[in-house]
Amino acid sequence: MVVVMAPGATEEQIARVTERVEETGGQAFVSRGVTRTIIGLVGDIESFHGLNLRVMPGVQDVYRISDPYKLVSLQHHPERSTVHVGREGHEVAIGPDTFTFIAGPCAVETAQQTLEAAEMAKAAGARLLRGGAFKPRTSPYAFQGLGVKGLEILADVREVTGLPIVTEIVDARDVKIVAEHADMLQVGTRNMANFGLLQAVGECGKPVLLKRGMTSTIEEWLMAAEYVAQRGNLDVVLCERGIRTFEPSTRNTLDISAVPVVQATSHLPVIVDPSHAGGRRDLVVPLSRAAIAVGADGVIVDVHPDPENALCDGPQALFGAELRALAQAVRQLPKAVGRR
Ligand code: PEP
Ligand code: MN
Repeated sequence: MVVVMAPGATEEQIARVTERVEETGGQAFVSRGVTRTIIGLVGDIESFHGLNLRVMPGVQDVYRISDPYKLVSLQHHPERSTVHVGREGHEVAIGPDTFTFIAGPCAVETAQQTLEAAEMAKAAGARLLRGGAFKPRTSPYAFQGLGVKGLEILADVREVTGLPIVTEIVDARDVKIVAEHADMLQVGTRNMANFGLLQAVGECGKPVLLKRGMTSTIEEWLMAAEYVAQRGNLDVVLCERGIRTFEPSTRNTLDISAVPVVQATSHLPVIVDPSHAGGRRDLVVPLSRAAIAVGADGVIVDVHPDPENALCDGPQALFGAELRALAQAVRQLPKAVGRR
């Protein structure tokens, strides 16, 4: 942490700052420039926060230098992580060496629809099946998902297809039942800052897919991941799914630069959701190509056997020619960027 003193700060004010820092067991290194003095602090950053240095006389500003997250930071873990999802011996890797294709319906609607979507996903090369049993809908009047019945359908479809399941958790009270059925728990954009839920999934013993809050900064997103990690679960995969901007032609704006920005500061894998980012079927293939090129560790995509009659997010669901185009892209392009 660095304290920048105002240009006219007195020696007494500088001394007062260094004393307060030393009182909490920290060290203060004063460096005097021509017009102003800066003080570098070394020690426990959380205790420095409690000092309210910013309001002390003569202080102009206080800057944090190190990352506020620790467990998910590359500083504390210089190797990029690989997260393994699924039954022992049959795990699917998500990490720096592979490109992992995840697909499935937005929502589990019926056993038949889920099985058909899973078969479409598998035929296209998907290694994991997505599908929401508990749906976090903006409107309370919209389809809320089948709940536990949906989890059972997903588990049955896993038996048939062999694809491990990632499904969303929207309430900390459901962690046990969801973790019993699913291979990976998804925390969606609307719950990224639900800290109780993050702590609960941090204790569930299953990998977590943490989507970026639609109005969250990358730092807030990594702090959310830190909540999960702090409870002992380092198997966290981040998912960039688009952020809210002023642009109305897409559902959200895919922040493609979030991928390399995260990779420069965190060891966690990061994937892209082009379906919820663009909200449009015609954008899923081009945005997936962009995700591969920028270095994402995978994509998660909506597919549906009958998008016109889907109960959730039909306009962005792939089928037919577009799904075949995506299958081709995920088969061919990752090799060009050195991935399996
Ligand atoms: C989803 O993946 O079904 C979903 C609701 O996504 P998001 O949280 O990104 O909106
Ligand atoms: Mn959806």
